[in-house]
Amino acid sequence: MVFRKRHPSADDVMPAGQFVAGVLSALEAAATPGVNLLELDRIASGMIADAGATSCYVDYHPSFGGSPFGKVLCTSVNDAVLHGLPRDQVLAPGDLLSVDFAVSLNGWVADSALSVVVGDGADADRQLIAATREALQEGINQAIPGNRVGDISAAIGVVGKDYGYLINTDFGGHGVGRTMHEDPSIPNDGTPGTGPKLVPGMALAIEPWFMHTTDEIVTDEDGWTLRSVDGSRGAHSEHTVVVTKDGPVIVTRRHDEDF
Ligand code: MG
Repeated sequence: MVFRKRHPSADDVMPAGQFVAGVLSALEAAATPGVNLLELDRIASGMIADAGATSCYVDYHPSFGGSPFGKVLCTSVNDAVLHGLPRDQVLAPGDLLSVDFAVSLNGWVADSALSVVVGDGADADRQLIAATREALQEGINQAIPGNRVGDISAAIGVVGKDYGYLINTDFGGHGVGRTMHEDPSIPNDGTPGTGPKLVPGMALAIEPWFMHTTDEIVTDEDGWTLRSVDGSRGAHSEHTVVVTKDGPVIVTRRHDEDF
């Protein structure tokens, strides 16, 4: 298939975005004590098949990945924070689960992530998640025409640092479009007024992630899962937004969200 249109409207990306939102809502509800991470991947796989969508992850094999990913979700538990390869692991009460999910539907990609505490958890973990959501909201607020990427990055960084977290700038947000990772790169800290200018039609995946006590990560022996170097837990919140003349449109907003 040949796609000629380069920049999407919010309406173009909305079907993919709302599909991704629906899957994440289903997974959030399913993430209860006793559920296996492989079962969460199966739920998402089934929904992808039913919708006629295409996973952005299953064949994904960048230079830093150990092998083609092979699953449709990233499931990162506790000290794992990004790129968690779903494994035969049962969720326990108090686990902190981050789920990241991206598909292409109608030719456009949407990418979103959430973190959730399984059952009753620690207040510190709920605060970590709240910090990523607050940073995400502040970053989205800067996604307006005339601003620059650095305005988004700086807004995210301010929230993370206000909470006292260190910020890793090696992995962050990115443009999305026909494919999952496009320009520009959107680090989770930066300098206002710097970087590429934002224009209507840019679709951006904005994704703050923080860990309790470090900004350093190590790759698990599975070749994919990124864990904190000190064993502290991580959380991650991501939405795909389209920059419009009327402001940012969050295409992956879930029905129960107060964004
Ligand atoms: Mg993502």
